[in-house]
Amino acid sequence: MVVILENNATEEQVKNVKQHLEDFGFQIHESSGVQRTILGAIGVKPGFDIRKVKILEGVADVYRVTSPFKLASRNFKEEKTIIKIKDVEIGGDHIAVMSGPCSIESEEQIFKLAEIVARSGAKILRGGAFKPRSSPYSFQGLGEDGLKMMRAAADKFNLLVITEVMQIDQIELIEKYTDIFQLGARNMQNFSLLKELAQSKVPVMIKRGLASTIEEWLMSAEYILAGGNNNVILCERGIRTFEPYTRNTFDLSAIPVVHQKSHLPVVADPSHATGLRNQVPPMARAAVAAGADALMIEIHHDPENALSDGPQALLPDTYLQLMKELREIAHAIGKTI
Ligand code: PEP
Ligand code: MN
Repeated sequence: MVVILENNATEEQVKNVKQHLEDFGFQIHESSGVQRTILGAIGVKPGFDIRKVKILEGVADVYRVTSPFKLASRNFKEEKTIIKIKDVEIGGDHIAVMSGPCSIESEEQIFKLAEIVARSGAKILRGGAFKPRSSPYSFQGLGEDGLKMMRAAADKFNLLVITEVMQIDQIELIEKYTDIFQLGARNMQNFSLLKELAQSKVPVMIKRGLASTIEEWLMSAEYILAGGNNNVILCERGIRTFEPYTRNTFDLSAIPVVHQKSHLPVVADPSHATGLRNQVPPMARAAVAAGADALMIEIHHDPENALSDGPQALLPDTYLQLMKELREIAHAIGKTI
């Protein structure tokens, strides 16, 4: 941690700041220039609240040099994490694709879409049975019936399943049907849910919160890792900004940032990031080029009548064409899809 003192800080104030730093357990390295004094504080604990120093009299600014996340950081683990689930790997040179409907709506729907997912070469079927909807009047999901339908469809076409868990009391049930838990954007900082998911052996994909920084997102990953579940995947799904032409703003630069800061794989979700079908293919192509380890794409054979997120679902033909294009982009950067 670096503590910069005000130009006109009095000797008394500097002494007081140093005393506090010592009391907090830091080792201090002082560098006094003509203009100002800078203190290097060594030994910052991950959970230390730097505001305790910021509020001291005479302090101009405080910067953290080390990150507050530890197990999720590249310093802790240099090599990239590859999550292995049955015969699928996420985080290596093969880009995994998770596609399917926003919600599981019926047996007919999920079997039809699972066939398209398998035909596209994707290995993971997505679909929600418990849906976090902005309106209580919107379709809330089919619950366990939906999970049963999706598991059967996935097994028929040799696919893995990813589905959202919204609350602690759903973990045990969903574990019976899924290969990956999806922790939704709205639950990214549901710390009690994170702690419970950390007790599971099932991989967890954490979607970035609507208004969360990359550091906060990595701190959520830290919760799962600290609790003993090493199978953590991150998913960039767009953040809320002032721009209304897209549903969210796709923070593509989060992909290289996460790769620099963390060893964990990162998935890109251009469907929720843009919210409109015609914007999904260009952003999916960009995500592969930016180095995403996997993609999450919503598809529907009858989006007009979809029970959720129809406007962002790709039609099967567009999706199959997109997968071909993505393969070429992946090839150009030494990867496969
Ligand atoms: C979803 O994947 O359908 C979903 C609700 O995603 P998010 O949590 O990113 O909004
Ligand atoms: Mn959706």
